[in-house]
Amino acid sequence: MKAGQAGRPTAATPPGILYVVATPIGNLEDITLRAIRILREVGLIAAEDTRHTRKLLSHLDIHTPLVSYYKDREAERAGLILQRLRGGVDVALVSDAGTPAISDPGAVLVGRAHQEGIRVVPVPGASALTAVVSASGMADPHLLFLGFLPAQKKERCRLLKEVAQRQEMLVFYETPRRIRACLADCMAVLGDRPAFLARELTKLHEESMRLPLSAIAEALGKREAIKGEFVVVLAGAAPPAPRPEEAGLVELLRWYRQEGQLSLKDVVRQLTRDLGLPRTEVYREALRVWQEAMAE
Ligand code: SAM
Repeated sequence: MKAGQAGRPTAATPPGILYVVATPIGNLEDITLRAIRILREVGLIAAEDTRHTRKLLSHLDIHTPLVSYYKDREAERAGLILQRLRGGVDVALVSDAGTPAISDPGAVLVGRAHQEGIRVVPVPGASALTAVVSASGMADPHLLFLGFLPAQKKERCRLLKEVAQRQEMLVFYETPRRIRACLADCMAVLGDRPAFLARELTKLHEESMRLPLSAIAEALGKREAIKGEFVVVLAGAAPPAPRPEEAGLVELLRWYRQEGQLSLKDVVRQLTRDLGLPRTEVYREALRVWQEAMAE
């Protein structure tokens, strides 16, 4: 018997559990064994688009009833679903692809379930966010996830200006229709930076580029048609240069080495002038710092 389908609730009926279930972002093999079991066992599945989820369920031979839970009617639908949870029915929340509530509907229902003391259990799996960060080779302990950037240029540039000095890596979702304009705005506001762009992850036409932002924008600019789903990762802003009057020689050398804009020779020339130290001393220390970095 399915969880929560044991008949009419009594005063003693404990509330159901709300499972937040990740589904594939393209490749159906990415569904987890646990997700399949939960989707089969719950009494109800709340889906962003029932037609879309029905296809996945029929592929898995699952016949659990579905109810729609979509963005424009989140509040109203959450009320109905909470009623079922209160009555003891276990519910699985899914979105069209990936993890619910990550740039997808779900947060309203999950938030209200918490308020009511209903147990919320994540059933993790695919997400374009974690897939792209893990494959970027740029993973940083700190990242700033921006969801979708605003559709209007003015708002988009305003947001980009707000985050321009943030040192965390930036990650955002983008549609094929806006990707070119969006990359052009990123170049104009954030400047050229190391970047990673992924398209159609886990699907037949999966593609990724790990290049400077300018090169990615140029490559997409040359295409006649742009199709598919995109995720973009950009390196964060470089940390501000230490102030010469406060920082030691080695600290400054390490900063210049990490920043990678100047050659060893140019750094030595600049620091000899800025710090008023003998050139041989600066050169000796610079060699040590460059060698140290190469050994890392
Ligand atoms: N909740 C989903 C998740 O966890 O991945 C994201 C939903 S959001 C509405 C959809 C956006 O995610 C797409 O426009 C695209 O930017 C990104 N996305 C989803 N699937 C993708 C894929 N297979 N490859 C690249 N990006 C994808």
